[in-house]
Amino acid sequence: MRKINNYINGSVSSISSNYLQVDDPSTGEKIAEVIMSNADDLNLALESSKKAFAEWSNFTPLKRSRVLSKYKEILEKNIELLAKIVSQEHGKTLDDAKGSVIRGLEVVEFACGIPHLLKGEFSQNVGSNIDSWSIRQPLGITAGITPFNFPAMVPMWMFPIAIACGNSFLLKPSEKDPSCPIKLAEFFSEAGLPDGVFNVVNGDKEVVNMILNDNRISSISFVGSTPVAKYIYEKSALNGKRVQSLGGAKNHLLVMPDANLDQAVDGIIGAAYGSAGERCMAVSVAVAIGDIADNLVNKIQLKAETLKVAPWTDSNSDMGPVISLEHKNKILDYISTGEKEGANLILDGRQINIQGYENGYFIGPTLFDNVTENMKIYKEEIFGPVLSVVRVKNYEDALDLVNKHIYGNGTSIYTSDGEISRHFTTNCKIGMVGVNVPIPVPMAFHSFGGWKQSLFGDHAMHGIEGVRFYTKLKTVTSRWPKSIQSGPEFKMPTN
Ligand code: NAD
Repeated sequence: MRKINNYINGSVSSISSNYLQVDDPSTGEKIAEVIMSNADDLNLALESSKKAFAEWSNFTPLKRSRVLSKYKEILEKNIELLAKIVSQEHGKTLDDAKGSVIRGLEVVEFACGIPHLLKGEFSQNVGSNIDSWSIRQPLGITAGITPFNFPAMVPMWMFPIAIACGNSFLLKPSEKDPSCPIKLAEFFSEAGLPDGVFNVVNGDKEVVNMILNDNRISSISFVGSTPVAKYIYEKSALNGKRVQSLGGAKNHLLVMPDANLDQAVDGIIGAAYGSAGERCMAVSVAVAIGDIADNLVNKIQLKAETLKVAPWTDSNSDMGPVISLEHKNKILDYISTGEKEGANLILDGRQINIQGYENGYFIGPTLFDNVTENMKIYKEEIFGPVLSVVRVKNYEDALDLVNKHIYGNGTSIYTSDGEISRHFTTNCKIGMVGVNVPIPVPMAFHSFGGWKQSLFGDHAMHGIEGVRFYTKLKTVTSRWPKSIQSGPEFKMPTN
């Protein structure tokens, strides 16, 4: 059985003899085992991170940028390979996996501009013959803990910028699909990154707790479910670490009566069922406003029925399986709960059977109509191919619905009315907003992050927010007084 170990100080490493099974979700078969690192594994990684930081933080930003440029070239040549690794362990279609690798690569591309991004501010003569300027310095050893649904892209929201800023980075990827992060680290070494600057330590919550408690680590970047995100935020802050902690979501897509309905339906179908709904920016609630509801539901149903559910090896697949049997059962429970709560089950994905893949973790597209605010399937994140349609009378009720929900990751409105769209983008309490765009995921040079229970901490991921998160601000005030001798001053200096 293939063993997935750690990547420490430029090579594969393992001390713990404890391993966890990794499945192919399309077949339900065990395909590998991943190491559950112990304190010795983590200690080895951190000692190498510490040593590497001393060297790497002294590389000039331009030299760091050149290593990143080389890394970008290597990644570009290996998009297909990385996507295949992602698809096999995650189950998503190959095209979707490629897209996610490219979105990660774009962060590397952004981080290549680090000499410019690290430029501080300068003021001449803040007082007579006194100048003041600011610089941004790296934190030290930074760490990232990432979820299963984007094993390439989410780690790449973090480490390219952390490393470009002069930090060393320790990644603890999801134990469900850990092969891609190891490959990403190997390619970085190939690009000339000094050993130990980027280490990957595998494991589950045990090693996460060791990371949170280790005072050699300066900051924690986390992406995952809300209960864990909240725990990580609290624990990291208690231990004096800088922390950005992104959680779950329940994204609403509003369809106004004046929307182009076919465009809205296409947007909803891709965003609700793409990647089997396992995206933090997936649309899980369609809000039908006014009298378009019947038409909208009919059109969604007709399109959803045509989707091909198949393993990633089938190039015609629209969506693959969910990540694990446990997760599949959790989603099936939600569908039963929705029925019991009185929502109208229009499309039931529970009975799907794919020949040759009977043990895979597949669920077909599922559609509920007449979902209401008090239902569990509305309140909670399902993270599967289950779409709820909520019917409301008017735009004001739809906005109210969005703003009352505990999650605030993404939302979108389909309309042809500029005034309504502007009102919505201004007044919704959500971090990422789309207008006639179903999944408004910001590009690498903007920043990714939600509001409310979707993000704990002050900084979103990547873009300039990433640079700020991974650096400490220092402001220097100086004068060179050869001839002036004014004696000690006891009052606050003013101009
Ligand atoms: P998860 O919270 O179960 O796991 C995330 C990471 O935390 C993993 O590395 C895991 O090993 C670790 N972990 C799990 N339980 C832990 C615990 N009790 N203590 C310490 N560490 C623990 O999330 P997941 O199932 O891998 O990913 C899906 C979730 O991630 C969804 O809720 C999704 O919305 C969210 N997500 C959010 C974003 C975002 O940007 N907001 C992006 C992607 C995924």
